[in-house]
This record gives sequence, structure tokens and C-alpha cells, in this order.
Amino acid sequence: MRAELHGDWHVHSTFSDDARSTLDEIVAAAHAAGVRELRCTEHVRHDTTWVPDFLAAVAALSVPPGLVVRTGVEAKLLDVTGALDVPLDLVVGPGGVDAVVVADHQVPTPEGPWSPRRTQEAMAAGLTADAVVGWVVEATIGAMRRLPGRAQLAHPFSILPKVGVDEAAIPDALLRRWAVEAAETGTLVEVNEKWACPRPRAVRAARDAGARVVASTDAHVAADVGRYDAVARILDEADR
Ligand SMILES: [Zn+2]
Ligand SMILES: [Zn+2]
Repeated sequence: MRAELHGDWHVHSTFSDDARSTLDEIVAAAHAAGVRELRCTEHVRHDTTWVPDFLAAVAALSVPPGLVVRTGVEAKLLDVTGALDVPLDLVVGPGGVDAVVVADHQVPTPEGPWSPRRTQEAMAAGLTADAVVGWVVEATIGAMRRLPGRAQLAHPFSILPKVGVDEAAIPDALLRRWAVEAAETGTLVEVNEKWACPRPRAVRAARDAGARVVASTDAHVAADVGRYDAVARILDEADR
């Protein structure tokens, strides 16, 4: 098995509202699946208060030898500047989380986050796919710059198909700039099993620029931790 698949850099526990397994169950499942690097990642919003409890719970885990456990909080991009829906005072600085996992759950526009539906209505009224692509990429770059050495891109470009835009619509030069910014800011680029993205072309761009590419399941239940299908195919295709 290729080296990347021994990592699972984005897994949710019961600290996230929509996940079902405890941190202990996740660590046991990761170990059983041969995972060596695990990032326990939880959904947050700006008013989330339990981050210190989450960090304490991870610190108290009994971790089997050969497994490294890191922490992360997953926060959505809010606008084109890369502002994030995250309690920044709780997550950055000493004692904070190891990474902010930057998520395109909505379209980050100049006016704030738009749902896929609102975006598609705007597109029906004349908003171009190029503009949407530009917003998503610029917002992502802005977030990376805000968090040097602390950012990871969750399921990059997952929002595009939700608004009917193919990832292939990202121009080469813009994709290259995204990749170079990831490398220069020390941002990890996730290849995500749940959303089967980004595509091999973006993986190649990230690698060519020198950014680190990592695998994630985005598991919400322990049984899914460290189990890859789409990610393995995407990474293999990126090698060709
Ligand atoms: Zn997500
Ligand atoms: Zn997630």
C-alpha cells in the first residue's frame, strides 16, 4: 500500500454533531486499519466553546505505539478574503489545535457564504462559473495565508460540483497559483475519500509545486477510518 494511505488526516468523533464514534473507538479503528498518522478533526463554528475539552480529551487518549495523533478543527470559508467560521482565539497560539481544516462547505463570495442553491440562482441570473471558481480559489489562498503552517485543505473544490461547475474549469494558471500558495504557506492538501476530490490534476499541481498531499477519509464512524477506494484511484492516476 502506498505511503499516503497509512495516514488519515480528517476523522470526526462525537465532538462533531453528526459523527457517531468516540475518540477511543477512532484510535482503535485507526490502529487496526494500519494508520500511522491520524488527525482527529471536529466541526466548529465561531461560537464553539468546547475546543479546550476536545484538546484535553485527545491528550488523554491512550495511543498505541506506531500511531501519531494530531488535532484539527474544520471550519468553513466565509468570504473571498478567506475569513473562517472558527473561534480563532481558541484554536491558534500555544496549546491550540495542530491545524485548521479549511472547508468549502458554502461558496465564499464577496458578500459572505452562499449556499449551493443561492449560488445556482445567481448563476441562472448571469453569474459566471469563472467568477465562482475565482472566489473559491481566492478564498482558499486567503485562508492559507492567514494560517501559515497551520492549515489543511479539507476536500478541496468539493463545492464546485454542488453548483454544477466541473473542477476542470479551474484555469491552469490559477490552479498553479493555488498549489504554489499551499507549498509556500506549508498547507496540507487533502485528498478526501468521502467527496472523492480533488481530482488527479490538482494533486499533480500540488505535488509539482512542492505541497504535501495527504489522504483522508472524512470518516464520521470508526469503521470507515483508514479505508480507501477513491483516494487510492486518484493518487494512482495523479502518478501517471
Ligand atoms: Zn467538510
Ligand atoms: Zn469533515
